[in-house]
Amino acid sequence: MLVRAQVQALLRQAQDELVALGQAAERVHAGVYETCERCGGPISEGRLAALPARRTCIACANRM
Ligand SMILES: [Zn+2]
Repeated sequence: MLVRAQVQALLRQAQDELVALGQAAERVHAGVYETCERCGGPISEGRLAALPARRTCIACANRM
């Protein structure tokens, strides 16, 4: 049972990531991929490289 629950948790995580990556792809097409959703400022390349699905800059993420 424990393994089953872990697998389901992993599956849910993977599905969430797929959704987030799909949204990231849409943002690339819209040309706003590197723009913070909250403040409109730039998201650093390093941050996007580490966390490609992030939609806010570090300052906004820290404020959440
Ligand atoms: Zn921001």
